[in-house]
Amino acid sequence: MLATTVLAKEPERRAGSRVLVSAPKEEPKKEPPKEARRPLTDAEVAALVKLRLEAMRRARAKAAAAKAAESPPAGRHASNHWSYEGEAGPLRWGKINPAWAKCDSGNRQAPIDIRDGIRVDLEPVAFDYQASAFNVLNNGHTVQVNVAPGNRITLTGRSYELQQFHFHRPSEEKVNGRAFDMVAHLVHKDDEGRLAVVAVLIEGGTQHAGIQAVWNNLPLEKHEPVVPVTTFDPALMLPARRDYYTFMGSMTTPPCTEGVLWIVMKEPIQASPQQLDIFARLYPMNARPVQALAGRLIKESN
Ligand SMILES: [Zn+2]
Repeated sequence: MLATTVLAKEPERRAGSRVLVSAPKEEPKKEPPKEARRPLTDAEVAALVKLRLEAMRRARAKAAAAKAAESPPAGRHASNHWSYEGEAGPLRWGKINPAWAKCDSGNRQAPIDIRDGIRVDLEPVAFDYQASAFNVLNNGHTVQVNVAPGNRITLTGRSYELQQFHFHRPSEEKVNGRAFDMVAHLVHKDDEGRLAVVAVLIEGGTQHAGIQAVWNNLPLEKHEPVVPVTTFDPALMLPARRDYYTFMGSMTTPPCTEGVLWIVMKEPIQASPQQLDIFARLYPMNARPVQALAGRLIKESN
Protein backbone atom coordinates (compact mmCIF):
# COMPACT_ATOMS: atom_id res chain seq x y z
CA MET A 1 0.00 0.00 0.00
CA LEU A 2 2.95 2.25 0.72
CA ALA A 3 4.17 1.94 -2.87
CA THR A 4 0.80 3.00 -4.24
CA THR A 5 0.78 6.10 -2.08
CA VAL A 6 4.22 7.21 -3.21
CA LEU A 7 3.49 6.64 -6.88
CA ALA A 8 0.13 8.36 -6.66
CA LYS A 9 1.78 11.49 -5.34
CA GLU A 10 4.27 11.76 -8.16
CA PRO A 11 2.04 13.17 -10.91
CA GLU A 12 1.24 16.16 -8.69
CA ARG A 13 4.90 16.91 -8.19
CA ARG A 14 5.84 16.71 -11.82
CA ALA A 15 2.61 17.98 -13.36
CA GLY A 16 4.19 21.10 -14.73
CA SER A 17 7.48 19.59 -15.71
CA ARG A 18 8.71 19.64 -19.29
CA VAL A 19 11.74 17.59 -18.37
CA LEU A 20 10.14 14.21 -18.00
CA VAL A 21 9.38 12.80 -21.44
CA SER A 22 6.93 10.34 -19.89
CA ALA A 23 4.70 13.14 -18.71
CA PRO A 24 1.39 11.69 -17.49
CA LYS A 25 -1.52 11.70 -19.94
CA GLU A 26 -3.71 13.25 -17.28
CA GLU A 27 -1.57 16.39 -17.39
CA PRO A 28 -3.92 19.28 -16.71
CA LYS A 29 -4.89 21.33 -19.77
CA LYS A 30 -5.03 24.38 -17.56
CA GLU A 31 -1.80 26.38 -17.35
CA PRO A 32 -0.04 25.42 -14.18
CA PRO A 33 1.08 28.13 -11.77
CA LYS A 34 4.20 29.95 -12.91
CA GLU A 35 6.47 28.72 -10.18
CA ALA A 36 5.65 25.10 -11.16
CA ARG A 37 6.89 25.60 -14.74
CA ARG A 38 10.47 25.65 -13.62
CA PRO A 39 12.17 22.55 -15.06
CA LEU A 40 13.24 20.08 -12.40
CA THR A 41 16.89 20.17 -11.51
CA ASP A 42 19.00 17.06 -11.99
CA ALA A 43 19.01 16.60 -8.24
CA GLU A 44 15.20 16.69 -8.11
CA VAL A 45 14.89 14.21 -10.96
CA ALA A 46 17.40 11.96 -9.25
CA ALA A 47 15.40 12.21 -6.00
CA LEU A 48 12.18 11.27 -7.83
CA VAL A 49 13.83 8.33 -9.53
CA LYS A 50 15.25 7.20 -6.20
CA LEU A 51 11.81 7.45 -4.58
CA ARG A 52 10.25 5.40 -7.33
CA LEU A 53 12.99 2.75 -7.21
CA GLU A 54 12.59 2.45 -3.45
CA ALA A 55 8.84 2.07 -3.83
CA MET A 56 9.37 -0.69 -6.41
CA ARG A 57 11.89 -2.43 -4.16
CA ARG A 58 9.48 -2.30 -1.20
CA ALA A 59 6.65 -3.64 -3.36
CA ARG A 60 8.85 -6.53 -4.53
CA ALA A 61 9.96 -7.33 -0.96
CA LYS A 62 6.35 -7.26 0.23
CA ALA A 63 5.23 -9.58 -2.58
CA ALA A 64 8.10 -11.97 -1.81
CA ALA A 65 7.21 -11.99 1.90
CA ALA A 66 3.55 -12.69 1.12
CA LYS A 67 4.56 -15.55 -1.17
CA ALA A 68 6.86 -17.04 1.48
CA ALA A 69 4.06 -16.94 4.04
CA GLU A 70 1.76 -18.85 1.68
CA SER A 71 4.21 -21.58 0.77
CA PRO A 72 3.97 -24.94 2.56
CA PRO A 73 5.97 -25.65 5.74
CA ALA A 74 8.87 -27.42 4.03
CA GLY A 75 9.56 -24.36 1.89
CA ARG A 76 9.62 -21.93 4.78
CA HIS A 77 12.19 -20.83 7.26
CA ALA A 78 14.23 -23.60 8.88
CA SER A 79 12.40 -23.25 12.20
CA ASN A 80 9.24 -24.43 10.48
CA HIS A 81 10.81 -27.61 9.20
CA TRP A 82 9.69 -30.86 10.82
CA SER A 83 9.89 -34.49 9.88
CA TYR A 84 9.22 -37.98 11.23
CA GLU A 85 12.78 -38.88 12.20
CA GLY A 86 16.11 -37.36 13.20
CA GLU A 87 16.80 -33.82 14.36
CA ALA A 88 13.38 -32.52 13.36
CA GLY A 89 11.54 -35.69 14.45
CA PRO A 90 8.46 -35.99 16.73
CA LEU A 91 10.45 -35.83 19.99
CA ARG A 92 11.81 -32.43 18.92
CA TRP A 93 8.66 -30.83 17.47
CA GLY A 94 7.80 -28.93 20.65
CA LYS A 95 11.27 -27.34 20.72
CA ILE A 96 11.62 -26.42 17.05
CA ASN A 97 9.07 -23.62 17.19
CA PRO A 98 7.52 -21.94 20.27
CA ALA A 99 4.13 -22.07 18.53
CA TRP A 100 4.41 -25.87 18.60
CA ALA A 101 4.91 -26.15 22.39
CA LYS A 102 1.72 -28.23 22.73
CA CYS A 103 3.50 -31.09 20.94
CA ASP A 104 5.54 -31.42 24.19
CA SER A 105 3.35 -29.97 26.91
CA GLY A 106 -0.14 -31.03 25.78
CA ASN A 107 -2.07 -33.70 27.63
CA ARG A 108 -4.74 -34.26 24.98
CA GLN A 109 -2.40 -35.32 22.19
CA ALA A 110 -2.99 -37.74 19.32
CA PRO A 111 -2.54 -40.39 18.14
CA ILE A 112 -3.22 -42.82 20.97
CA ASP A 113 -3.32 -46.54 21.51
CA ILE A 114 -7.05 -47.19 21.66
CA ARG A 115 -7.94 -49.63 24.43
CA ASP A 116 -10.38 -50.01 27.33
CA GLY A 117 -13.08 -47.99 25.62
CA ILE A 118 -16.43 -47.55 27.31
CA ARG A 119 -19.01 -49.46 25.28
CA VAL A 120 -22.16 -47.41 24.81
CA ASP A 121 -24.84 -46.79 22.22
CA LEU A 122 -23.05 -44.12 20.21
CA GLU A 123 -25.07 -41.88 17.96
CA PRO A 124 -24.22 -42.75 14.33
CA VAL A 125 -22.17 -40.18 12.46
CA ALA A 126 -24.38 -38.76 9.69
CA PHE A 127 -22.18 -38.67 6.57
CA ASP A 128 -23.39 -36.35 3.82
CA TYR A 129 -20.73 -36.85 1.15
CA GLN A 130 -21.04 -36.54 -2.62
CA ALA A 131 -19.00 -36.58 -5.82
CA SER A 132 -16.88 -33.44 -5.61
CA ALA A 133 -14.15 -31.56 -7.41
CA PHE A 134 -10.78 -32.39 -5.87
CA ASN A 135 -7.05 -32.00 -6.18
CA VAL A 136 -4.15 -34.14 -5.02
CA LEU A 137 -1.15 -32.59 -3.31
CA ASN A 138 2.14 -34.06 -2.13
CA ASN A 139 2.83 -31.54 0.65
CA GLY A 140 6.18 -32.98 1.72
CA HIS A 141 4.68 -34.84 4.70
CA THR A 142 1.92 -36.87 3.07
CA VAL A 143 -0.36 -37.18 0.06
CA GLN A 144 -3.33 -34.91 0.65
CA VAL A 145 -6.63 -34.76 -1.23
CA ASN A 146 -8.36 -31.38 -1.03
CA VAL A 147 -12.07 -31.56 -1.76
CA ALA A 148 -14.50 -28.86 -2.82
CA PRO A 149 -16.99 -27.61 -0.19
CA GLY A 150 -20.29 -29.40 0.35
CA ASN A 151 -19.30 -32.63 2.15
CA ARG A 152 -20.43 -32.71 5.75
CA ILE A 153 -20.73 -34.89 8.81
CA THR A 154 -23.19 -34.23 11.62
CA LEU A 155 -22.66 -35.46 15.15
CA THR A 156 -24.19 -34.43 18.48
CA GLY A 157 -26.03 -31.61 16.77
CA ARG A 158 -22.87 -30.13 15.27
CA SER A 159 -22.11 -30.01 11.56
CA TYR A 160 -18.54 -30.19 10.26
CA GLU A 161 -17.41 -29.70 6.66
CA LEU A 162 -14.80 -31.94 5.08
CA GLN A 163 -11.66 -29.97 4.17
CA GLN A 164 -9.22 -32.64 3.02
CA PHE A 165 -8.07 -36.15 3.66
CA HIS A 166 -4.56 -37.58 3.74
CA PHE A 167 -2.67 -40.74 4.57
CA HIS A 168 -0.19 -42.08 7.12
CA ARG A 169 1.95 -45.21 7.00
CA PRO A 170 1.72 -47.12 9.23
CA SER A 171 -1.56 -46.11 10.89
CA GLU A 172 -0.90 -43.54 13.60
CA GLU A 173 -3.59 -44.88 15.90
CA LYS A 174 -3.20 -48.30 17.38
CA VAL A 175 -6.02 -50.55 18.55
CA ASN A 176 -5.05 -52.70 21.52
CA GLY A 177 -1.42 -52.14 20.66
CA ARG A 178 -1.75 -53.04 16.99
CA ALA A 179 -0.99 -50.64 14.14
CA PHE A 180 -2.57 -51.10 10.70
CA ASP A 181 -0.76 -50.81 7.35
CA MET A 182 -2.06 -47.29 6.77
CA VAL A 183 -4.76 -44.86 7.85
CA ALA A 184 -6.73 -42.15 6.07
CA HIS A 185 -7.57 -39.02 8.09
CA LEU A 186 -10.63 -37.11 6.88
CA VAL A 187 -10.35 -33.63 8.39
CA HIS A 188 -13.56 -31.68 9.04
CA LYS A 189 -14.14 -28.22 10.46
CA ASP A 190 -17.26 -26.58 11.89
CA ASP A 191 -18.27 -22.93 11.52
CA GLU A 192 -16.37 -22.03 14.67
CA GLY A 193 -13.16 -23.67 13.46
CA ARG A 194 -13.45 -26.78 15.61
CA LEU A 195 -11.91 -29.88 14.04
CA ALA A 196 -13.35 -33.37 13.79
CA VAL A 197 -11.17 -36.03 12.18
CA VAL A 198 -12.60 -39.31 10.90
CA ALA A 199 -9.84 -41.95 10.82
CA VAL A 200 -10.27 -44.91 8.49
CA LEU A 201 -7.80 -47.72 9.11
CA ILE A 202 -6.41 -49.47 6.03
CA GLU A 203 -5.25 -53.09 5.90
CA GLY A 204 -3.76 -55.16 3.09
CA GLY A 205 -6.31 -57.04 0.97
CA THR A 206 -8.19 -56.29 -2.20
CA GLN A 207 -7.77 -53.27 -4.41
CA HIS A 208 -9.58 -50.11 -3.31
CA ALA A 209 -11.29 -47.98 -5.96
CA GLY A 210 -11.09 -44.73 -4.00
CA ILE A 211 -7.41 -45.07 -3.18
CA GLN A 212 -6.74 -46.00 -6.81
CA ALA A 213 -8.48 -42.82 -7.97
CA VAL A 214 -6.14 -40.83 -5.72
CA TRP A 215 -3.01 -42.73 -6.76
CA ASN A 216 -3.98 -42.25 -10.44
CA ASN A 217 -3.56 -38.53 -9.82
CA LEU A 218 -0.38 -38.60 -7.72
CA PRO A 219 1.61 -35.42 -8.38
CA LEU A 220 5.03 -35.79 -10.01
CA GLU A 221 6.43 -32.97 -7.87
CA LYS A 222 5.92 -31.87 -4.26
CA HIS A 223 3.77 -28.77 -3.71
CA GLU A 224 2.38 -28.91 -7.25
CA PRO A 225 -1.17 -30.23 -7.03
CA VAL A 226 -2.79 -32.32 -9.73
CA VAL A 227 -6.27 -31.03 -10.52
CA PRO A 228 -8.21 -33.83 -12.21
CA VAL A 229 -11.18 -33.08 -14.47
CA THR A 230 -13.11 -35.92 -12.82
CA THR A 231 -14.86 -35.84 -9.44
CA PHE A 232 -14.25 -37.88 -6.29
CA ASP A 233 -16.85 -39.11 -3.79
CA PRO A 234 -15.26 -39.14 -0.31
CA ALA A 235 -17.84 -41.77 0.71
CA LEU A 236 -15.59 -44.20 -1.17
CA MET A 237 -13.15 -43.91 1.73
CA LEU A 238 -15.64 -45.14 4.36
CA PRO A 239 -16.04 -48.74 5.55
CA ALA A 240 -19.41 -50.48 5.25
CA ARG A 241 -19.89 -50.69 9.02
CA ARG A 242 -19.99 -47.36 10.79
CA ASP A 243 -19.14 -48.35 14.38
CA TYR A 244 -16.44 -46.17 15.85
CA TYR A 245 -14.21 -45.18 18.75
CA THR A 246 -14.22 -41.57 19.87
CA PHE A 247 -12.03 -39.43 22.11
CA MET A 248 -10.63 -35.91 22.36
CA GLY A 249 -7.16 -35.37 20.94
CA SER A 250 -5.03 -33.10 18.80
CA MET A 251 -3.64 -32.61 15.35
CA THR A 252 -0.92 -35.25 14.90
CA THR A 253 1.43 -32.82 13.15
CA PRO A 254 2.80 -29.46 14.34
CA PRO A 255 1.40 -27.29 15.87
CA CYS A 256 -0.33 -30.28 17.61
CA THR A 257 -3.39 -28.12 18.37
CA GLU A 258 -5.76 -29.77 20.87
CA GLY A 259 -9.56 -29.76 21.04
CA VAL A 260 -9.86 -32.12 18.07
CA LEU A 261 -12.75 -34.60 18.12
CA TRP A 262 -11.46 -37.98 16.90
CA ILE A 263 -13.74 -40.56 15.33
CA VAL A 264 -11.88 -43.78 14.48
CA MET A 265 -13.92 -46.22 12.42
CA LYS A 266 -13.72 -49.73 13.86
CA GLU A 267 -13.88 -51.55 10.54
CA PRO A 268 -10.81 -51.08 8.35
CA ILE A 269 -10.99 -50.71 4.58
CA GLN A 270 -8.67 -52.74 2.37
CA ALA A 271 -6.05 -51.75 -0.17
CA SER A 272 -4.05 -54.09 -2.38
CA PRO A 273 -0.37 -54.77 -1.60
CA GLN A 274 0.50 -52.85 -4.79
CA GLN A 275 -1.50 -49.84 -3.59
CA LEU A 276 0.21 -49.95 -0.19
CA ASP A 277 3.62 -50.17 -1.91
CA ILE A 278 2.94 -47.07 -4.00
CA PHE A 279 2.45 -44.95 -0.89
CA ALA A 280 5.46 -46.59 0.79
CA ARG A 281 7.68 -45.43 -2.06
CA LEU A 282 6.75 -41.83 -1.29
CA TYR A 283 6.41 -42.08 2.50
CA PRO A 284 7.80 -45.27 4.10
CA MET A 285 7.11 -43.86 7.58
CA ASN A 286 5.01 -40.80 8.32
CA ALA A 287 3.32 -41.64 11.61
CA ARG A 288 3.68 -39.80 14.92
CA PRO A 289 4.21 -42.21 17.85
CA VAL A 290 1.25 -42.81 20.18
CA GLN A 291 0.83 -40.29 22.99
CA ALA A 292 -0.11 -40.69 26.65
CA LEU A 293 -3.82 -41.13 27.27
CA ALA A 294 -3.49 -39.02 30.45
CA GLY A 295 -6.81 -40.11 31.91
CA ARG A 296 -8.88 -39.41 28.83
CA LEU A 297 -12.10 -41.25 28.25
CA ILE A 298 -12.51 -43.38 25.12
CA LYS A 299 -16.04 -44.32 24.05
CA GLU A 300 -16.88 -47.00 21.50
CA SER A 301 -19.95 -48.26 19.71
CA ASN A 302 -21.52 -51.29 21.30
ZN1 LIG B 1 -3.26 -37.20 9.74
